[in-house]
Amino acid sequence: MAEETIFSKIIRREIAADIVYQDDLVTAFRDINPQAPTHVLIVPNKLIPTVNDATSEDEPALGRMLTVAAKIATDEGISADGYRLIINCNRNGGQEVYHIHMHLVGGRPLGRILGR
Ligand code: AMP
Repeated sequence: MAEETIFSKIIRREIAADIVYQDDLVTAFRDINPQAPTHVLIVPNKLIPTVNDATSEDEPALGRMLTVAAKIATDEGISADGYRLIINCNRNGGQEVYHIHMHLVGGRPLGRILGR
């Protein structure tokens, strides 16, 4: 069994977070250390540590993460100008929290994808 992270507690509303969306499959909340005017994390309610651990059974939740990202982008008023979706995986990907999460960042020009 994978070890729970703080994100499981946020999903269960055991600790405070600015939750902007939640349904039976995913939860979205504002990043505590925002890198852009909009910075929301979209996570599956089920603990899946990394993209490497995702299975075909997880496809409904993983697909929902994308459609919820589009909905939140619309709600935030950034869909037309655009935004970026990022999923980090393991050490070289820069993953810090081992519960899959998609960063939705936008609200300003973000430059090239790897900052170069
Ligand atoms: P990553 O490097 O892809 O694993 O990103 C982890 C993200 O989780 C970082 O952007 C953190 O700022 C964010 N984060 C960590 N703890 C919390 C929290 N309690 N509430 C909201 N965001 C958090």
